[in-house]
Amino acid sequence: MKLKSRIITLGVIGLFLSCATNPFTGKQTMAFVSNDQLFPTSFQQYNQVLSESNVEKGTARAEMIKRVGERIAVAAERWLNANGHQGYLTDYQWEYNLIDDATVNAWCMPGGKIVFYTGILPIAQSETGVAAIMGHEVAHALANHGQQRMSAAYIQQGLAVAGNIALAKDEQTLGIFNQSYGVVSNVAGMLPFSRSHESEADRIGLYLMAIAGYNPDEAAELWKRMSAHSGGKSTPEILSTHPSNDSRIAELNALAPTAKAEASKFGIQSFRPIGKF
Ligand SMILES: [Zn+2]
Repeated sequence: MKLKSRIITLGVIGLFLSCATNPFTGKQTMAFVSNDQLFPTSFQQYNQVLSESNVEKGTARAEMIKRVGERIAVAAERWLNANGHQGYLTDYQWEYNLIDDATVNAWCMPGGKIVFYTGILPIAQSETGVAAIMGHEVAHALANHGQQRMSAAYIQQGLAVAGNIALAKDEQTLGIFNQSYGVVSNVAGMLPFSRSHESEADRIGLYLMAIAGYNPDEAAELWKRMSAHSGGKSTPEILSTHPSNDSRIAELNALAPTAKAEASKFGIQSFRPIGKF
């Protein structure tokens, strides 16, 4: 693409970027699309994934995923309400599903659509481990990290977006959507979260799990176990989008007392037993 048309493209993109302060990060974030444009596509894609997958219903572990998800959602709502952000979750339609699949992954799409794969459960090891993953993935969604990855991918590809974006209408856009939200089964095409997005999701996720009554000390242990599985064939897919290292684990440990202090503001003085399964 010629420089001039590139500049025009960026200009057009600039026109339609909306800028808002995210309550979870306190940062101005830019997104191409508003929730009412994005969520219908998200919900549609989510249902598509479910229809093509072996969704486990009514088992103890499927109920556990739902229970943890509901508690994390309540924690998010309580935190937002306490911090003067009533209504932030109005358009959310929370849903928590467990897919019977060896893939070691879990994700949350815009609007609160969550999937856990059974393959991640042995590494989660406990309900508290599930809460650590759930808190982290929900945090990415609440902080609009997917939208930001999507915007970055648009700019990289020099795509102009105009007016009323009908996200699902063309394949290229849908491809970017799927890459940005980790819906694709081909991990090679998925975009990793940046280091700063990971730090944000770790911090917010710790708060959420603690306010939901799960011990935040377990988060560092979880990511240690995840890292221990890397290398060779068994590298967890979640690590391809969530780069993890020693400094991250140290940060999680350092942040755990802050998360406990935050939870105590909501009357949480002690945490549920780890609950290994
Ligand atoms: Zn992450």
